[in-house]
Amino acid sequence: MAEEYEKLLDKLYSNLPAKRTSGERFEIPIAKCFVQGNKTVIGNYGEIYSRLRRTPEELSKYLFKELATPGVISGQQLILQSKVNPRLVNEKITSYCEIYVICRECGKPDTHLDAVNRNVRMLVCEACGAKKPVRF
Ligand SMILES: [Zn+2]
Repeated sequence: MAEEYEKLLDKLYSNLPAKRTSGERFEIPIAKCFVQGNKTVIGNYGEIYSRLRRTPEELSKYLFKELATPGVISGQQLILQSKVNPRLVNEKITSYCEIYVICRECGKPDTHLDAVNRNVRMLVCEACGAKKPVRF
């Protein structure tokens, strides 16, 4: 009986129209980390900063500070000079997105940062035009 019900559900779901991709929430890219000796390498760093439309330096500066470790950008990888929990790396990338990438008004990641002064930049949304000052 339960099996029949499952089958019926499957049938119902398979008949639903395909999910539309437009208007879906932006997915923050997941860092693929691996430890190499005493270092942590983010193997897909290039993919992350380009998805966020930030320079490799902007994002790495934040990560070095938040993770309290120095590091170097090496091609498409970011090398952190200590062992860091990958979950922590991803938490920091998420908080970077929330502060410096995602528009608070419309939730889209189509933003850029305009310089205001040494400590403040303007997060400008290209989708809805909202502006918000952010501190560095
Ligand atoms: Zn917006």
